[in-house]
Amino acid sequence: MALVTKAIKGTQDTLPNESYKVQFIEQTVLEIAGNYGFKEIRTPVFEHTELFQRGVGDTTDVVQKEMYTFNDKGERSITLRPEGTAGVIRAFLEHGLFNEPLPQKMCYLTSCYRYEKPQAGRLREFHQFGVECVGTASPAADAEVIALANDVFTFLDVKNLQLEINSIGCPECRKEYHKALKEYFEKYKGDLCETCLGRLDRNPMRILDCKSPVCGEIAKNAPTVLQFLCDDCKEHFDKTKMYLDAMGIEYKVNPTIVRGLDYYTRTVFEFVSNEIGAQGTVCGGGRYDGLCQELGGAPTPALGFGMGIERLMLLMEAQNIPFPADKPCNIYIASMGDKASFKAAEIVSQLRTEGVNAQFDVVGRSVKAQMKFANKLGAEYTMVLGDTEIDENKANLKNMQTGETTEVQLDDFVDNFMNISIQQSMSALYENLGIDDSIDLNSIL
Ligand code: ATP
Ligand code: MG
Repeated sequence: MALVTKAIKGTQDTLPNESYKVQFIEQTVLEIAGNYGFKEIRTPVFEHTELFQRGVGDTTDVVQKEMYTFNDKGERSITLRPEGTAGVIRAFLEHGLFNEPLPQKMCYLTSCYRYEKPQAGRLREFHQFGVECVGTASPAADAEVIALANDVFTFLDVKNLQLEINSIGCPECRKEYHKALKEYFEKYKGDLCETCLGRLDRNPMRILDCKSPVCGEIAKNAPTVLQFLCDDCKEHFDKTKMYLDAMGIEYKVNPTIVRGLDYYTRTVFEFVSNEIGAQGTVCGGGRYDGLCQELGGAPTPALGFGMGIERLMLLMEAQNIPFPADKPCNIYIASMGDKASFKAAEIVSQLRTEGVNAQFDVVGRSVKAQMKFANKLGAEYTMVLGDTEIDENKANLKNMQTGETTEVQLDDFVDNFMNISIQQSMSALYENLGIDDSIDLNSIL
């Protein structure tokens, strides 16, 4: 029975007293993406396995080792999405979004599933904020997508992230590069891991991304791609860097980045931290000009990135970055007896329609226990209703911060409460700022 009260290895719960943090991140990234013209797209959590085999690439670690694949009851092979791009491009093609004005700028917040060894910053269910910009080959788009990720970090006040960029060329210039890599790795055939031996013929560039320490060591001295770029790819990379310079974005060219997925072409990039352990890549992305065609569409240049939300949270926690506080309970209305409880229900429902966080007793506690509960909630105001208050149509509203109580009419309570709470928070603000609150605000405005 222990199994039912234990989450699956590599998965994580977000508990009610923590969720405001991830909500803040989610709202922030969607807003920034929105300012860049990216609109949210939502795709299913599972797809045909073939989509990822083709769209991520069957020489990748993700496809070879990490996918959650199963047959459904109709004997179809289904895979839980290991990343966001393939599903988005599938939707782009399926719904004819190529007929809309291009580029189509799409973004998403999504869960991803990979069967990996769980450790800090590496989960089996994790979450990504991703963007895809489909239908442009211009280096201006490369810089814009990188700038978006950069803005997210700047806005969230995340520091010490290194932006590393590289170009891995196009299929044309990669032919020569593959040849050189193959020649190099042939010499170490006896030492490469089994997966990489298989990659030697099919896609030697994948060996550069292998996580095995032996392969990693061998890869260190392998020829790098930049010296093999064709003129077009070189120009594209140079212009991308010039746009980044124009936008004031600092970067370092790291010729060893190749990225984990097969479909990347030209620009690839990562935002890397050395403050959260071995899993330091918080965001990775790049151009994938060949993907639409690979999935049966017309050739359509495109690019995007995936940002790991859990790694971002780890980094923000490591840097002690404060999150804006969760929305407080504005008022708790305690009640004694049925009549008062019905009145409390009536008032809280009116307050809630005005956007106030209002709560009342839904347990049947004593007034004393209700007040204790209100304290735990951190209620800004409390009010106790009993038969007398209902009969006299008035009650005492208590400001829990200052201890001040104000007699209020229960008729029109919502308006009364709004006025009193605005007035009191204004005078608290004046006091904090050291301003004389006898000044009439209207006379200044
Ligand atoms: P890594 O090299 O760390 O395995 P990756 O190249 O497999 O990363 P991508 O496929 O580019 O990662 O995914 C984009 C981002 O998603 C990563 O930069 C990271 O922040 C996050 N990510 C990837 N895999 C995981 C995971 N298993 N757990 C948590 N976050 C992850
Ligand atoms: Mg990985």
